[in-house]
Amino acid sequence: MSTETHTDPIYVVGGGHAGGEIAFALRQQGYTGPLTIIAEEGHLPYQRPPLSKAYLKGECEASSLYLRQQAAYEKANIDVLLSRRVERIDRAAKQLVLDDGRELKYSKLALATGGRARRMTIEAAARAERANNFHYLRSIDDVIAIRSRFESGKRLVVIGGGYVGLEVAASAITRDVNVTVLEALPRVLARVTAPQMSEFYERVHRNAGVDLRTNIEVTGLDFNEAGDAVTAVHCTGGVVIPADVVVVGIGLLPNTEVAQAAGLDVDNGIVVNEYAVTSDPDIVAAGDCTNHPSTFCGRRIRLESVPNAVEQARVAAASLAGKPKAYDSVPWFWSDQYDLKLQMTGLSQGYDQFVLRGSPDNKSFAAFYLKAGKLIACDAVNRAQEFMVAKRLVAACQAFDPAVLADESVPLKTLAPPVQAAAPQS
Ligand SMILES: Cc1cc2nc3c(=O)[nH]c(=O)nc-3n(C[C@H](O)[C@H](O)[C@H](O)COP(=O)(O)OP(=O)(O)OC[C@H]3O[C@@H](n4cnc5c(N)ncnc54)[C@H](O)[C@@H]3O)c2cc1C
Repeated sequence: MSTETHTDPIYVVGGGHAGGEIAFALRQQGYTGPLTIIAEEGHLPYQRPPLSKAYLKGECEASSLYLRQQAAYEKANIDVLLSRRVERIDRAAKQLVLDDGRELKYSKLALATGGRARRMTIEAAARAERANNFHYLRSIDDVIAIRSRFESGKRLVVIGGGYVGLEVAASAITRDVNVTVLEALPRVLARVTAPQMSEFYERVHRNAGVDLRTNIEVTGLDFNEAGDAVTAVHCTGGVVIPADVVVVGIGLLPNTEVAQAAGLDVDNGIVVNEYAVTSDPDIVAAGDCTNHPSTFCGRRIRLESVPNAVEQARVAAASLAGKPKAYDSVPWFWSDQYDLKLQMTGLSQGYDQFVLRGSPDNKSFAAFYLKAGKLIACDAVNRAQEFMVAKRLVAACQAFDPAVLADESVPLKTLAPPVQAAAPQS
């Protein structure tokens, strides 16, 4: 077993959006020492949002998802170890142990281990995972397997009516697949939006031809004789839905096991401070795997979004480079389904007032969420320009008159605080 050492090597564990961004941001921050990304997947860091959208529809190549091509890593002198997993972090020895037994000394470490798809817990799920038409969706490889089954007339059952499940449904319909979506809760997107938004999306999907069912739980699965394919999905109420392919989108579990085993603080994510530093000052973390303090929300949160992965990655890199800056951003996210671009900012949980600007019937509107008079979130559908203003309104944490928010004759930008000039870089 060899132990490789360098003067001051930094390793990034995880080659997703956050991992890729940390490495390049570190170079931008002036770090010139040895820098390596260790990535479990066999691809250069890539963007996942198209996995349930353009890439699933077959509209783009895998390499177009890469955040940067190989040449950019070479130019920046960033090594990428693909298809390699970090099994253990020995903090006392400041050493990583890889799945091929290699031991690597680090001076500092960045954890960007993201998350994995939440597995179904019904008894048949373990058997289904060995079948060739039952899939979770997190990676390029998952999508390659799924979309190869999208043929006209095939029957797709999507389990889970969250963003990923609904995007899969919208993409599959464009390939002439017969789609059924099963959601256990009384409405889709229940955890993240108001009933009015759920209603709107349910209507859009049904109009597109999706058989969308709510309040229905999966209880079992049927298999073919060889046992290598799921043939039907059993649900509460004795409902049986024949299936040629099943895609499960029921959420994400953060990859925290390696951090936890190393003794780092973990609580629904790797616990970091506002500088993205973990409970070990030599280890930072960023992206879906972290639990971080949010000034905006007034509590700790764990986010699953590209903007969070990118912005927190830059904060983590700044800390590694000895130029700490606090992470203080308002959550935002987007989802593309059919001809609808949904953009969301803030977190709507706990809202007590819902205000519509424009009409869902026109497929262009904004929904504002207020709590005790203060604006806490906005969902905008096909309103990109207003969304940019809404981000500033939500970030202002102020009270707004609901009647004015709803009044389309009042331009939103007249309500927004002035844009702050960027502080000079020190
Ligand atoms: C289908 C889909 C659609 C999405 N759509 C949107 C969207 O529209 N908008 C949006 O904002 N967000 C979207 N997201 C979420 C967004 O993609 C994630 O928030 C983002 O990818 C998080 O990046 P990350 O680097 O933190 O984690 P990840 O992308 O999960 O990357 C972590 C990487 O680390 C690897 N890894 C884990 N442990 C180890 C280890 N021990 N050793 C080596 N490697 C390891 C993992 O294999 C993985 O490759 C979507 C996600 C999915 C799956």
